[in-house]
Parts: sequence; C-alpha cells; structure tokens
Amino acid sequence: LIAMHGVNKWFGSLHVLRDVDLDVSRGEVVVVVGPSGSGKSTLCRVINRLEPIDSGDIHVDGRPLPVEGRALARLRAEVGMVFQQFNLFAHMSVLDNVTLGPVKVRGVPREQARRRARELLGRVGIADQADKMPARLSGGQQQRAAIARALAMDPKVLLFDEPTSALDPEMINEVLDVMTALAGEGMTMVVVTHEMGFARRAADRVVFMADGQLLEQAPPAEFFDHPRTDRARDFLSKVL
Ligand code: ATP
Ligand code: MG
Repeated sequence: LIAMHGVNKWFGSLHVLRDVDLDVSRGEVVVVVGPSGSGKSTLCRVINRLEPIDSGDIHVDGRPLPVEGRALARLRAEVGMVFQQFNLFAHMSVLDNVTLGPVKVRGVPREQARRRARELLGRVGIADQADKMPARLSGGQQQRAAIARALAMDPKVLLFDEPTSALDPEMINEVLDVMTALAGEGMTMVVVTHEMGFARRAADRVVFMADGQLLEQAPPAEFFDHPRTDRARDFLSKVL
C-alpha cells in the first residue's frame, strides 16, 4: 500500500532521511521506534507530503504522490494522520471536527456525515462528548476525537506520530486500546511511538530508525529479544 524507495530528505545541510526503503502492505501495522531526532516524524510527514522529498519515490496504493491541488487533498484524506498535539479545530464542536472533512473534501451530505461521525465517536468511546468543544475534553478524549476525525475520511492508512506522548499516564491506555482495536480490525497503520508494550502487542513489524536510516526491520519478538545492531541494543537498554 505504501512503497518508499531510495528516499532522501535534507533540511538544509542536515540529512534527515537516508536512502529509506519502506514497504507497508495492506492491513499491516508498522511501529517505528528510534532515538529523538532520528527522523521518525519526518518519515511520517513525507508519506502524506506534509514535507517534500529531495530524491527517491513514494507510491501510495500504486500511485506516485501528487504534488498539489485536488489530488493532494485526496491523498491527505486517504493517508490519515494523528499527531501528538491532537490538532483539533478549537472553535468547533467535536462532532463538527469529525464531519468537516467528509463534507468539505469528500462531498458527503451533512446529515449522513453527522450520523457517521456519531457512530465513529461511539467506536472510540466518546459518543457522549460529541457536542462539546475540544477544550472541554480530557487529553485522552481529544486524541480519540482526533482518531475519529481521521477515520471519518475512510483512510487507506493511518499514520500516528507519538499519539500518546502529550497525555497524562492514566490516559495513555484509553488511546492505545482504540489503536489496538483498529489494528485488530485490519486497519493499515504506521505508528511512531515510545510505547514498547504497544509495539510488542500490536505491531506486525518494528522498524528501528537512527540517524535517518532504517537500521532494522523485524517482527516485534525478534526485534526486542534479538536486536541485531549495537544502536538498537543501546536504544532498547534505555527504553525497556
Ligand atoms: P523526536 O523523537 O524528537 O520526535 P524524530 O525522530 O521525530 O524526533 P524528526 O522530527 O523527524 O525526528 O527530525 C529529524 C531531524 O530533522 C532533527 O534533527 C530535527 O531537528 C530536524 N528537523 C525536523 N524538522 C525540521 C524542519 N522543519 N526544519 C529543519 N530541521 C528540521
Ligand atoms: Mg518526532
């Protein structure tokens, strides 16, 4: 579903993605781990073209990434993204946050979009919060609303960039539980996280990134129990 080949990305003189090859199949859950500054967020951001790349190619569902216009808007709908900071629209209700994209981008009739939004809010366990403004929700509820908003676009793949890093500890599991359920339902997911328990439990494959390179790719049991590189061993000794 996602195919990245020979992808390079610089920020000025900083080489942040180095010859990255990554393929993600339909229904696969790939968890990306690695030290701070290794390029994990950038890896996510180039997949829906929040950042352009300098060389290499990226295909989503067999098509090269569009550069602009309606095709780019469609890509952003197909490749949903959930951020650390939720990024809900503060001036509209939770329900309106979830219906906006389908109505504006997908052209779904408003009533139909609202019905679907209520159903999705139920699925992430916050049906009772639909009419509140985001600021009135807890962090865990806001992040679940952000997941519902991404799901409302019927994405082919969801990218998560440290979705629980801004949350108080007691709210982390309510978000991870929603993500685990999605993974179990066959959603294709790329998840950047420091939650190694989630990686072990939900990942089909763990990708270890350091200095812009994908140094290891392995099933979680293999990666956690038998890391092959010193960098990964060193990283794991700090986070486990
Ligand atoms: P973290 O775990 O801290 O979130 P990360 O693995 O997500 O780190 P990135 O955010 O992808 O790392 O950043 C990789 C490198 O690129 C870092 O050195 C960062 O400072 C740099 N960088 C990221 N975004 C930009 C930008 N817009 N302009 C310049 N440099 C950037
Ligand atoms: Mg990051």
